[in-house]
Amino acid sequence: MSDDTPLLAILVQRLSERAVLRDPEDQARYLSDWAGDRLGMPLAVVRPASTAELAEVVNLCGEHGVAMTPQGGHSGLVAGALPASDGSELVISLERLNRVRDIDPVNFTMTVDAGCILETVKQAAAEHDCDFPLALGAQGSCQIGGNIATNAGGLNVLRHGMMRQLVLGLEVVLPDGRVWNGLHALHKDNRGVDLKQLFLGSEGTLGIVSGAVLKLVPKAEQSRTALLGVSSVEAVIDLYVLARRGCSDLLTAFELIPRRCIELAMEATPSLRDPMDDAHPWYVLMEVAATGPVDLGVMLEQLLEQGMEDELILNGVLASSESQSQQLWQFRESMLEGQRLRGEHLRTDISVPISAIPAFVTQATEVVMAASPDCEIIAYGHVGDGNLHFNILPPSTLDDEAKHDHLHALEATLFEVLDGFDGSISAEHGIGRTKQAAYLSRLSPMELELARGIKTLFDPDGLMNAGRILPAR
Ligand SMILES: Cc1cc2nc3c(=O)[nH]c(=O)nc-3n(C[C@H](O)[C@H](O)[C@H](O)COP(=O)(O)OP(=O)(O)OC[C@H]3O[C@@H](n4cnc5c(N)ncnc54)[C@H](O)[C@@H]3O)c2cc1C
Repeated sequence: MSDDTPLLAILVQRLSERAVLRDPEDQARYLSDWAGDRLGMPLAVVRPASTAELAEVVNLCGEHGVAMTPQGGHSGLVAGALPASDGSELVISLERLNRVRDIDPVNFTMTVDAGCILETVKQAAAEHDCDFPLALGAQGSCQIGGNIATNAGGLNVLRHGMMRQLVLGLEVVLPDGRVWNGLHALHKDNRGVDLKQLFLGSEGTLGIVSGAVLKLVPKAEQSRTALLGVSSVEAVIDLYVLARRGCSDLLTAFELIPRRCIELAMEATPSLRDPMDDAHPWYVLMEVAATGPVDLGVMLEQLLEQGMEDELILNGVLASSESQSQQLWQFRESMLEGQRLRGEHLRTDISVPISAIPAFVTQATEVVMAASPDCEIIAYGHVGDGNLHFNILPPSTLDDEAKHDHLHALEATLFEVLDGFDGSISAEHGIGRTKQAAYLSRLSPMELELARGIKTLFDPDGLMNAGRILPAR
């Protein structure tokens, strides 16, 4: 192309035509995320296929003063991986850096390129009778690098933790193009500052992750899933405590689902049938899993008996086969699609202490409904992590612009309630661009100074994911 900038001409020369996408049609799929959000045009999209190529790209960007946007599977929900609207940023897609480098079933670790899709990693681990236990709705498209950059959690955090607990080593291309090799496969390592943790959750603002050593667990030989009808959020929490004590570490998931989400799931997937013959205001989707000679059936039955005796469980379905279990999980997956089909709505990923969930849901519902009586609240989440998606569908009578402003105002109202519980405005998706104002307004001057200092140390020229988390300089 004749209108190439000097940087693009060099990139084509050093990598290949195939690795540098300049045609708007070729770029299209890199410009919007899972939610359909889109900001603008990049300078180009570059797709390095090795750590060495990635380092060369980053180095050249530094030399030419070009801003970089690392991009994984674009399933992040805070516009962090989307290029700015002014055509100034080079999108660096990790999709061709997608090799499983090594699996060590004795050390229970695997080493992967950062562009590996989470589902692929899980399948590769399964071939060695292991599991990489991160599980989330976007696992068919999100990449390990994106999971690391956002410190992703998911459905099994209550047993296995978030990415912070699942990563043993990292390889990172720093903003100046140097490669930091921290690819250690050590389960214990107390040598000074744990540098890798700085990259976990920093949303690509400190460098581009190119490889990782991941912690594996033995693949569960058996699991049991149950969907339970419950009358109130208070009863859900009492049931959670019962399950936590009765099933201990074998409890892998404990999801709160309101009736409305069951309906949304059935709308999105018409083959789904109402799971019980009566409807309940709240449902719990729970799972226990184990290897070895443990009788999960007895364990779960005892728990359910106790839950019914205590009048916490009103009705329930216990999956007796793998396919029935998958059907129950289908409600959890399809309800997300059901929400998406309803158009623009407020998505949140907040957290409060587990014990505060009932009071928070009550208070937040009252305050939001008082501010907007015609909106619809859909609150669900990972109870064992205190993490709620307190989402809001706007009144359908509003036009698009009014909806947007209305939801923005409701978010501020909701976050004020959250502050009263010392909660977090982001337990999962991160800050990116969309939560920046809310994040900054809650930082103390000392926290801001420290966060800025770390950013400047790694990226003095401010070229790496500029304007995400902290304002661009
Ligand atoms: C249906 C659905 C369900 C979800 N469920 C959960 C859930 O249960 N728990 C949860 O925590 N999150 C969840 N998420 C959001 C979650 O953050 C992402 O799914 C995932 O972790 C992002 O990975 P990605 O590869 O798509 O990253 P992207 O969206 O491409 O990028 C996200 C951020 O990471 C940066 N980044 C990407 N790759 C790299 C890299 N190699 N090095 C440095 N920076 C990089 C980007 O610049 C951006 O700032 C969900 C999202 C969807 C759409």
